[in-house]
Amino acid sequence: MSTRRVVIVGGGAAGFFAAITCAQTRPGTEVILLEKSPQFLAKVRISGGGRCNVTHACFEPRELTRRYPRGERALISPFHRFQARDTVAWFAARGVELKTEADGRMFPTTDSSQTIIDCLTREAQASGVKLIPNRGVERATRRADGGFDLTLSNGEPLLCEALLLATGGCRAAVGGQLAVALGHTLEPPVPSLFTFHLETPWVRALAGLAIERVEASVPGTGLRETGPVLLTHWGVSGPAILRLSAWGARLLAEMNYIFPLLLNWLPHLNAEKVAAELQARRASQPARLVVNSPVAPLPSRLWEQLVLAAGIARDTRWSVLSKAQLHQLTQQLTRTELPVSGKSLNKDEFVTCGGVRLNEVNLKTMESRVCPGLYFAGEVLDIDGITGGFNFQAAWTTGWIAGQAMAGNAAGKSE
Ligand SMILES: Cc1cc2nc3c(=O)[nH]c(=O)nc-3n(C[C@H](O)[C@H](O)[C@H](O)COP(=O)(O)OP(=O)(O)OC[C@H]3O[C@@H](n4cnc5c(N)ncnc54)[C@H](O)[C@@H]3O)c2cc1C
Repeated sequence: MSTRRVVIVGGGAAGFFAAITCAQTRPGTEVILLEKSPQFLAKVRISGGGRCNVTHACFEPRELTRRYPRGERALISPFHRFQARDTVAWFAARGVELKTEADGRMFPTTDSSQTIIDCLTREAQASGVKLIPNRGVERATRRADGGFDLTLSNGEPLLCEALLLATGGCRAAVGGQLAVALGHTLEPPVPSLFTFHLETPWVRALAGLAIERVEASVPGTGLRETGPVLLTHWGVSGPAILRLSAWGARLLAEMNYIFPLLLNWLPHLNAEKVAAELQARRASQPARLVVNSPVAPLPSRLWEQLVLAAGIARDTRWSVLSKAQLHQLTQQLTRTELPVSGKSLNKDEFVTCGGVRLNEVNLKTMESRVCPGLYFAGEVLDIDGITGGFNFQAAWTTGWIAGQAMAGNAAGKSE
């Protein structure tokens, strides 16, 4: 080979960012991007409900790392080089403006993931990246002279000097297997960002109800998150639940997704204050039915179910509420215990916890510490974020760093 050849395996967010960065940093490098499926950027297309939550408006690198249950410490240095602000600037420089929603998520102003796909495809083509769909890499071995021998899905061989694996979450075993064959170890993959199954009939009966601020916790684990919760026809979802699933991904997998979930529906009040509020109602409105007088800001349908779950009959008035019933109601409001019986993937965003071990990768270059010339970017690594644009941010950052480093190597330099 006369020109230096870089092969990127996987045409997702990380692969595209690495390919574009490498080709634009060192023009003249032959950059080949191989994608096993017919479509590039398939996950970008479906991401964020078709709108693509590109990143998050969190522009302080250390603060940004706190959104990563796996990778928090490792990402400190990478985010000092390419963080959310750089993502915004990168797309803006290429004509794609992002907007920020109230919760910090950033989307293209078009509200369409196609805008991001078009931008990445245009940039890759303009910078001379060879985009080859329907071409998986089935085997990769390191040559004695330092390059790599690849076997492609159509049986063809391909040689390259630098190889980047951007094959996505290792649950699809083949991506992980290429890394393993080249000497790497995988943290066992388990899902992250999932919703919880509950059989409890009254919860299912309230499907569609969103509660703005609930504290969700799993007793005995230290897992605790506060935020919006959505009741669904299969159980519970919403940002607080998804964050809990991310931080607890490994632990909850070990529990086989069977565990008690505690919900505090009034996290701004402690149990004493809730009890005092209920006592005050008994004194101020003795003749009213308990089911008809919800404590703000609880929706009346939820209040009704919590009152019934506390064992208080529908026709009970505040005046006749016993001490034991008051206690039961306080418990229901602050510590509803629901048995989780399984999980479902969140259709808006799910990721893999686990992947290539971070201590085997130099996070300054994304180059393997065990196999020189081999690089990693994106979800194939043991890095994953909570929901909100953080997973793409990790893909952009690691892809950009790998692209830079591979371009540096092409000139005989190491980052
Ligand atoms: C439904 C859904 C919605 C999401 N929405 C968001 C969102 O809005 N914001 C956010 O931040 N994150 C979101 N995520 C997570 C985000 O999509 C991923 O973290 C991100 O796509 C990872 O990028 P990647 O390039 O590492 O991997 P991927 O996007 O998975 O790309 C890897 C590519 O490699 C290819 N490949 C694998 N093995 C081989 C091989 N041997 N040879 C050739 N090609 C191969 C695969 O076919 C795939 O195209 C969402 C995820 C899902 C599932």
